[in-house]
Amino acid sequence: MLEDAGYPRYSVLPPREMDGAGSLGCEMDDIDKEAIEREAIMLRNQVWRSREQFVPIEPRGPLQRFEPDEATTTGYKVRLIHPSNAARFLGFVYLEVASLGKFSDAIVAGKIDRNARTILISQQVSREQQLFTGAHELGHAVLHRGLHLHRDRPISEPSAGDARRRRPQVEREADFFGACYIMPNNLVEREFVARFGSNKLRLNDSVAWALDHNDPDRLLQPHGWLDVEKAVSRVANYNGTGLPPLHHVFNVSVTAMAMRLQELKLIEPYAA
Ligand SMILES: [Zn+2]
Repeated sequence: MLEDAGYPRYSVLPPREMDGAGSLGCEMDDIDKEAIEREAIMLRNQVWRSREQFVPIEPRGPLQRFEPDEATTTGYKVRLIHPSNAARFLGFVYLEVASLGKFSDAIVAGKIDRNARTILISQQVSREQQLFTGAHELGHAVLHRGLHLHRDRPISEPSAGDARRRRPQVEREADFFGACYIMPNNLVEREFVARFGSNKLRLNDSVAWALDHNDPDRLLQPHGWLDVEKAVSRVANYNGTGLPPLHHVFNVSVTAMAMRLQELKLIEPYAA
């Protein structure tokens, strides 16, 4: 976030009291994730019901109509819920532009102007950053009605650890909304089951080997932050399914996908 002063901290979400754990620096969340996920689901459902107005964005391009029998596939749905369609549904013009300039030496990746009803996304950043930044701006549009003019640095996933604690609440809310919006719970679960056979992947020796032939022990030993979830996000052709990596399906970074998998509790840790 580049402009954190001067806008009302009004949100459609009720402010939550921080309890003692939060102030001790634990990984307590002070954002109402359930309410945010509900808002994301509601917006997606509205876009789905109005889908005749929209065309799936990429890779076909906005001028190509989809085939009717494709309408139930994950690929079609992921393209339909591109932030540009939702922005249009909300009455915003959504434009990808060559540059939005800089602010305090940082590239501006996204900008929402509520009065002008525009969301602008810079093409200077990677495609996955454009998508996540667009979804983040949607979060502001839906959750933060008091936020009128706002610019963002490139975002490719919600921040974690110390970076998360430093990030203002409205930014974390918009990040979480973005993740929920572009990685729908039901579609992530569908694609997860297609690859791993169940909506609970229990880590064991053979799963670890299938995830990473070169270094399965790394996944079974005490590991770094989201190591297993990242391996699940990036694995291609798991046990011969021939399916692409999950993060490719949703056009997001490996870390963004890993954080979503953790949020949805699809992976059970290794118990020796
Ligand atoms: Zn923001």
